[in-house]
Amino acid sequence: MDLSKRIRGLTGGGSDGWDVFYKARRMVGAGVDVTELTQGEHDIRTDQSILDAMHRSASSGHTGYSMVPGNDSLRDAVAARVTERTGVSTTRDNVLVTPGGQAALFASHHAVCDEGDVALYCDPYYATYPGTLRGVGAVPRAVRCLPENAFEPSFSDIAAKSSDAKSLLVNTPNNPTGVVYSAETVDGIARACREYDMWCISDEVYDTQVWDGTHISPRTLDGMAQRTLVIGSMSKSHAMTGSRVGWIVGPEVAIENLINLATHTTYGVPGYIQDAAVFALGEGVELEDKVGAPFKRRRVLGQAILAKQNVVGLVPSSGAMYMMLDIRNTGLSGDDFADKLLDAHHIAVMPGESFGASAAGHVRVAMTVEDSAFEVSLQTIVDFAKGFQP
Ligand code: PMP
Repeated sequence: MDLSKRIRGLTGGGSDGWDVFYKARRMVGAGVDVTELTQGEHDIRTDQSILDAMHRSASSGHTGYSMVPGNDSLRDAVAARVTERTGVSTTRDNVLVTPGGQAALFASHHAVCDEGDVALYCDPYYATYPGTLRGVGAVPRAVRCLPENAFEPSFSDIAAKSSDAKSLLVNTPNNPTGVVYSAETVDGIARACREYDMWCISDEVYDTQVWDGTHISPRTLDGMAQRTLVIGSMSKSHAMTGSRVGWIVGPEVAIENLINLATHTTYGVPGYIQDAAVFALGEGVELEDKVGAPFKRRRVLGQAILAKQNVVGLVPSSGAMYMMLDIRNTGLSGDDFADKLLDAHHIAVMPGESFGASAAGHVRVAMTVEDSAFEVSLQTIVDFAKGFQP
């Protein structure tokens, strides 16, 4: 029996640049000691205080069905957080709780794109984006963001692709580049959405991890609250990747319709996870800073190593848990560099190519091992790159 074209076409086929990642996983499985700087997974676990809250909630009986839109307490906590951080008045009616940011990305595009609609996304991109867009029947179209522009999209980059587009997906702070979009970039995004009548899907799951500069949500700009769906998540901010809890913030009418979608798909998020999320948000920035501190620290350590040489370039990034290295001086592609590095030194990094054509000749390093191992790895990467200088 044939499966649907939609599900068979979801991944888009072809090589996706993830070979090195799977090779590293196989090596680990075979007992090889590999330093994995690949996935965006913290090297700390969910804070014990959050787990205690989860346990208290489950033990007191919150193990049944929960409210499909999310429990009032969590919707209120998210709304208060968004209002406080952005100044845009937000209530629980603007919030849908989802099983993580990924489900929120899928649901948001489902809400704004009809079959065959063009959905824009910025390249380099978080690996699931094109598949998510295809998954809702949309036609993904990349807006190329080039290294010489610090991988930020300009108004004209977006406008050139927008004439028939229905939505624009943006991500700041950015995975994979670590770049926090400037005020000018966010202005350009908002202007393009208004002029070309597009929805903005704004993936802000790294909004607590800003090491330099300021995070600006496109929803805060003129005329944007009614055309923006913001994706949020507890995964990165609170090291809760496995708990699967996130949200969509948007106009009430969009949320009403998204609740219908949730009723027919996820049917809510476990109550004890939501209670743990309420507890965690209640702990405020102190807990978020504790979770983000290792990345902030390692970024400084990494910058010091890179400052002492001029073979490997660092994308001027100021957020998230990644460093994007420009290895074009080696003459190798990101794929080749990552593959050879893995063979020679058992260090696994992600080739830029796995995040789209714009990041070719780069590798993404996740700052997800303890400080001294991170420094040793980065120094090894730099020394390894020097060996390829023409
Ligand atoms: N958006 C971006 C940019 C991400 O990096 C990730 C996870 N790596 C997600 C969304 C999805 O995160 P989650 O589903 O765990 O909330």
